[in-house]
Amino acid sequence: MKLPIFKYHPDPLATGSIEVSDEVCECCEKATGYIYSSTLYAQEEVEFICPWCIADGLAAKKFDGTYIDDYPLINAGLGESVVSEVCERTPGYNSWQQEQWQSHCNDACEFHGDAEKEELQALSGEALDSFLEKEMIKLDIWVNILAGYQKGSSPAVHKFKCRKCPEVLYTMDFD
Ligand SMILES: [Zn+2]
Ligand SMILES: [Zn+2]
Repeated sequence: MKLPIFKYHPDPLATGSIEVSDEVCECCEKATGYIYSSTLYAQEEVEFICPWCIADGLAAKKFDGTYIDDYPLINAGLGESVVSEVCERTPGYNSWQQEQWQSHCNDACEFHGDAEKEELQALSGEALDSFLEKEMIKLDIWVNILAGYQKGSSPAVHKFKCRKCPEVLYTMDFD
């Protein structure tokens, strides 16, 4: 069975947000073979949701929850349809701090999981300057962080891509 298409999270298996699993979805009560591994922010604690109930918005509706904090998107001035697609119909991701879904060119970005060490090492010039400024990190601290950076451990650097231009945005996440 092919996973549903998530416009803003194109490969949730690669990012670890969706995992292969025999668990039964608490929304559709089926074992689809896949389960969401991150959080649904809702009153009720919901442990198992399948990708299909995320994609069609059923689980967000049923449990009155969201997968992603909408504040950064609303703050970026994005329209209601984009905000609801990201927050109610897109798998979120695991982070220690509150996730900060990025936007660019008046659209939400695609989430691409943890950045590779090589691409972070290749960051330079304006791209590096604006990243450090946004994250409020001094260059010498960043050099240290980068030396010990390992994909999947803390600190994490999450990667987002603009859907309309070649811009790539990174966010830092510490535990
Ligand atoms: Zn389901
Ligand atoms: Zn852009």
